[in-house]
Formats: sequence, C-alpha cells, structure tokens
Amino acid sequence: MSKTNLLGYTPQQLENLMLSLGERAYHGRQLFKWLYKQRQYDFSLITDLSKDLRNRLQREYDFEGLSLQREDLSVDGTRKFLFRLDDGLPLETVLIPDEAGRQTVCVSSQVGCVLGCHFCATGGMGQGRNLTAGEIVGQLIYLRDRYGDGAFTNIVMMGMGEPLLNLDNVVQALSIISAGDGLSVSAKKVTVSTAGIVPGIKQLADLKLKVRLAVSLNAALQEKRLQIMPIARKYPLDRLVEALKYYTDKTKFRVTFEYILFEGFNDTIEDVMAISRLIRGIPCKINLLAYNPVGGLDFDRPGDDTVDWFAKQLYPRAPAVTVRKSRGIDIGAACGQLAAISDKE
Ligand code: SF4
Repeated sequence: MSKTNLLGYTPQQLENLMLSLGERAYHGRQLFKWLYKQRQYDFSLITDLSKDLRNRLQREYDFEGLSLQREDLSVDGTRKFLFRLDDGLPLETVLIPDEAGRQTVCVSSQVGCVLGCHFCATGGMGQGRNLTAGEIVGQLIYLRDRYGDGAFTNIVMMGMGEPLLNLDNVVQALSIISAGDGLSVSAKKVTVSTAGIVPGIKQLADLKLKVRLAVSLNAALQEKRLQIMPIARKYPLDRLVEALKYYTDKTKFRVTFEYILFEGFNDTIEDVMAISRLIRGIPCKINLLAYNPVGGLDFDRPGDDTVDWFAKQLYPRAPAVTVRKSRGIDIGAACGQLAAISDKE
C-alpha cells in the first residue's frame, strides 16, 4: 500500500486527519509543529504522540520532500534547482543572495504556464499543471533542510507559472509558510506576482493575507501590452487598474509594478508618459529590469544607457523607481528564463 504524503497539510488538515484516526484533534497541531518547525520527519521519534499512533503514522503516512535532479550555480552566487515531481514533470526554484544579506527564493506555483507571455520561456512550455500546496511548500522545505533556518529571508512567487491561477493551493501553502509553528516567515516578506489576473487580485485583497502584490506590467499602453502579453485581451489595462485600486484601498499596501525593458519596444518617452498616467491614484513602486534574453525569442536587451535614461525620465513621475539587476543569467535562472531546460537534454 502506498503511503499518503503529508507534505503541504495545514494544521486544520492534520487535525481532521487525527479525528479520522479516532485521535484527539490537538495531536494534529502537535504533528504540524514537529514536521514544519522541528523538522522531525521520522514519526517514530515524535515522542509526544502515543506509540500506537506513531506506528500507525509510520505504516500509512510519510513526509516526503521534493527530489532534486540538478543544480546550477551562477558566477553571481545565484543557484537554480531543478526538481523532478512524482509524475515526472520538472520544477525550477531559484535562490538569490544579495549584498544586503538577503536570501530571496523565487518559488514556482505551476509547471509551465498557459498565459504564454511572449518574452517568457516558461510560457513557451505551454500548459502544464498547478502545483499542489505540498509541491509549493516543498521548494522551501528543501532549502531549509539543506541550508538551515536562515536559508531564505524573502519569498517571491515569481518562478514558473501564474500564482493567481492556482490561488487555492497558493493560499494553502501561504498558511503553512506564515504559521508560527510552520515556516514562520512573515507574510510581508512574501510577494505574489501576477501577470494581471483581475478576479485573483480582488480575491487576494479580500483574503487579507498581508502578502505583497507585484504586477508584471511591461507596457502601459493597451495595444502594446497586447503584443507581448495575451492575457491583456481578457483583462485589459483599464480593468487591471480598477482591480489594483480595489486591492490598494482594501489592503492599504502599495503594489509593485515590474517593468521589463525591451530594446526599441517599450523604452520611449511615450512609454514613460503612459506609465505615469496609468499609476495615477495607485500607491506603488516600479521595478525596472532589462530583458534577459531567451533563446529563440525575438527581443533584445537594452543597453545600460537606455535603462538609466528610462529610469531618470520616470523618477519625477512615479512615487518610487528602482532598477533591478538581472541575476543568474548565465545559468538561465533570471526573470523569464525558467523553462526546465535540462528536461529537454
Ligand atoms: S511571465 Fe509569468 S505569467 Fe507570463 S508566461 Fe511567464 S510564467 Fe506565465
């Protein structure tokens, strides 16, 4: 009989499991703490559970993490991890250290992505599937088991996939990530990034989760955005703006706009002015990032001069502007490059 993997179970689910086994519900919370906080995955060593319960858990359940298939290390210290899921699909996670001592982990929420943004290698993989809560949390558990409690300080859901199209599992994973007896990462250290799924943005606002929201904008003119992000047809910019105002009103958090600069496409003064019009009334900051080339895609990376010029034009017209450095380009770990390439080797 194959065992049931408890990876990704919330305290509530473990309580329900205990009740279904004829045990007291509070043993579920004890088990949660042992698994996620104490990192004790051997049920026989969980001493505050009865011997009978421990034996039963050992016979019928396990707590299996993700299997690492390959790892790449960039010259800038960024690490990319390729995991092989139980159904054979590949999953990538990136760990990015910075000079300020932060360790940011870029977590995936889906394998492949149905949204097909034209600049993104993951979009080129096509439709895959949603990750389970266990597979989302499993990326973090792997890093913590390997590097200890300080393995990561910040979490960005900017890896493979669109988190707001997998909201139930993302929310379940977040409840484990932010629980004091779980991974104990403050929700404000977690950023969920969306290509602009309007209903998901509103749902996230209503959930009051305290996580931060980033929006992959990349063009502030509807026609231009449509050329690179097909999702702009279903959720045009005016609807996106309305959803973001709802979000900022409801949460009182500002939104981060991610803006990838493509040489000769979205790097003109007309684009600067369009951004400044679009963000009016939305508490926000803007992150600029030069495009990271992906083989076979028809865009060029702008020079540093262009990025500087664009940032200087935008500074006086936006509440806050930062220029992000691309990390891990040499190992295909930078923004937009995740496509589990080794899968095809
Ligand atoms: S940028 Fe994000 S939403 Fe767009 S295709 Fe890539 S993974 Fe999907």
